[in-house]
Amino acid sequence: MVSTKSQVATISIECNSDDKCSLASANGTRTSSLSSSDSVLNLSLGDPMMFEPFWKKMSDKYNVTIGGGDLMSYFSDGNNVCWFLEPELGAAIRRLHGVVGNAVTDDRYIVVGTGSSQLFQALLYAFTTPGGPEPVSVVSSAPYYSAYAEVVGFLRSELYKWEGDAYKFNKKGAYIEVVNSPNNPDGTLREAVVMNRTGNGNGKLIYDFAYYWPQFTAITGAADYDNMLFTISKCTGHAGSRIGWALVKDKDIAKKMTEYITISSIGVSKESQFRAAKIIEVVCNGSQKVGSVKSENFFEYGRKILSERWEKLRETIQNSEYLILSKYPQEHCLFSGKLAETLSAYAWLESKDDTKDCNEFLRGLKIVGKSGKICGAHQKFARVNLMCREEEFNQFIERLSATKGKGVINGNWSLKC
Ligand code: PMP
Repeated sequence: MVSTKSQVATISIECNSDDKCSLASANGTRTSSLSSSDSVLNLSLGDPMMFEPFWKKMSDKYNVTIGGGDLMSYFSDGNNVCWFLEPELGAAIRRLHGVVGNAVTDDRYIVVGTGSSQLFQALLYAFTTPGGPEPVSVVSSAPYYSAYAEVVGFLRSELYKWEGDAYKFNKKGAYIEVVNSPNNPDGTLREAVVMNRTGNGNGKLIYDFAYYWPQFTAITGAADYDNMLFTISKCTGHAGSRIGWALVKDKDIAKKMTEYITISSIGVSKESQFRAAKIIEVVCNGSQKVGSVKSENFFEYGRKILSERWEKLRETIQNSEYLILSKYPQEHCLFSGKLAETLSAYAWLESKDDTKDCNEFLRGLKIVGKSGKICGAHQKFARVNLMCREEEFNQFIERLSATKGKGVINGNWSLKC
């Protein structure tokens, strides 16, 4: 049986002077657990623990049981381009997009990956092989999800190279643009920019829709692009299952992605796929109010918590001497039938004083955010995870509130997180 007990995550996070935090080991306690108001509050990563109470409430009803002799083969479906995709998961993904209305799945291949992180790499491989004389440029408009830069540069590939902000990219020739909407870190809704700006028509586009779900933003239509990435990490909060999927129009691209995943990990965990299919079924049943076990609408639950968090945060920041938050648009959501504001998964905090480093300011409060610098933006910005646990969010607000009328707090302490 697969335990769905939600244990406290056992990650430790190391931060270097460049503010890059990385997951380091998995053998102890969660470094951002709060034992006192003096502890370091690590909100630099996008761990989606705010969804945990929903699933804890449900866990006895939606346990998955896997026998010792189940799911043993490498293979799932030899007739499918993506031969390691469990048919139940494929069906659940198509149903989910139909229920939410956020993406077209007709005439699309589904490629499953170990998180959408693996699928991003699989797409880079699919777009750039066989290699040409020069590596293909990869860009995304700043501020961008910092992992794009890390992943692209990590292995010093000869196939592709990171070229940063899509707004500054002026080269001729082939390029890949990643469009992330709503965008991590700043929550804005995005479109491709290079083609419109420069007329360069040699681009391939990757649409990263990690946050195009009703808890985060209005669903304004079914996205209908050639290469779209989704992840269960942010859709339902099950980041630990490491399941992502790509909706791909072109069969050859789907084949090459499958080849990449075959070579790098010979498929994707069947246990994870099995559990993900179950979780998605729960979400769909709750949204459609069907099924034998009645469950709450997960997306309404997520939206309610995020909107309360945003309200508290805006209230706290509105008279701040140091920080600004920008506003997000409201649009009609086809999923809920209501007007819905974007409720970003992250606070993109900006120092009022352009010369101040926002992450330094947060360090003064013993809060670890992610510096705007590593997202290709100015250091007056910093990203803070709002999908954290409730006690972490409350501490965050408490520490921000404590700065009112106290003069600038300078980080004069060493960071141990
Ligand atoms: N894209 C974006 C924009 C993300 O924020 C994340 C996770 N932080 C990912 C992709 C990767 O998600 P996964 O857990 O599926 O690898």
